[in-house]
Amino acid sequence: MIDQTSILIIYTGGTIGMIKDEKSGTLIPFNFNGIYEQIPVLRRFHYQLGFHCFDPPLDSSDIHVEDWAGLATIIEKNYESFDGFVILHGSDTMAYTASALSFMLENLNKPVILTGSQLPLGELRSDGRENFITAIEIAAAKEDETPVVPEVCIYFENYLLRGNRTVKYNAENFNAFASPNYPELAEVGISIKYNKANILKPNFKKLKIHTHFNRRVGILKMFPGITPEFVECVLFKSGLEALVLETFGGGNALSDHWFLDLIAKAVTMGMIIINVSQCMTGTVEQGKYKTGIGLGKAGIISGKDLTTEAALTKLMYLTDKFNNPLVVKNMIQTSIRGEITV
Ligand code: ASP
Repeated sequence: MIDQTSILIIYTGGTIGMIKDEKSGTLIPFNFNGIYEQIPVLRRFHYQLGFHCFDPPLDSSDIHVEDWAGLATIIEKNYESFDGFVILHGSDTMAYTASALSFMLENLNKPVILTGSQLPLGELRSDGRENFITAIEIAAAKEDETPVVPEVCIYFENYLLRGNRTVKYNAENFNAFASPNYPELAEVGISIKYNKANILKPNFKKLKIHTHFNRRVGILKMFPGITPEFVECVLFKSGLEALVLETFGGGNALSDHWFLDLIAKAVTMGMIIINVSQCMTGTVEQGKYKTGIGLGKAGIISGKDLTTEAALTKLMYLTDKFNNPLVVKNMIQTSIRGEITV
């Protein structure tokens, strides 16, 4: 029986697509034309599978914003021909790509599921096979002809997570990703249990993609011992227009005058600074401690429970799209793709 459901698999690179080279013993990307030999069980899917491979495949540490744009463009070009999309991607920067894609794909009404693996597909114990097969099944899932998960997600080791809520937190375990501030969208065991109340609803509008990002955005992580020279360099000599400030705990930072004065000066000169926490779980509450109140007075915007990955890509997207800093500041605290709790 042929199911007319069609899924486009986009292979960007990463561990999942590696096999051991017989001669040298090193890991090399395998030829996706041979995918059915690698995973014969794929033939048992009744869906029509299409393939698009990055050439050359990229370790995800080598992914650039142009590659994000490339992904969005491939999805746009194939949007009408496929019911869902599975992106095979290295796990290291997968949370950044997933966050970026969520902002790039406005009015997304089809599943875009990123997955990868900790062990190459060519390894006997690889987690890649299960991740890959389940990601296809999720991308194909429909109810009343409507996709069950019409959003950008990461599927890894039994959990489906909203892409822009996800962080890679484990470099060793198969269970490498977490969504600390938003519930899982599905849990996979014998069956796939969708958490429908937490999945975005389709709006049935036409897909619109945004492929430009402002690169003059950066991240500054607070640490005890930080010097005025270092902060000055980041704020005034780096050419940045917007900054994600990773603060302590619930949004606190140094209350030294030199620090708050530098921050206030940068904000007055037009820099947009977003406060996110170095903690994985919880939210920024700038009004709770004196050390947080100072930041609010200096003009920093609370990024609430945004992950660093989502805050960075959202700022890159918003500051490119809107010239008006007030609009950007407003939208930072607004949920545009389910990335922030409001
Ligand atoms: N370094 C690899 C990458 O991110 C690791 C992985 O695929 O998980 O591309």
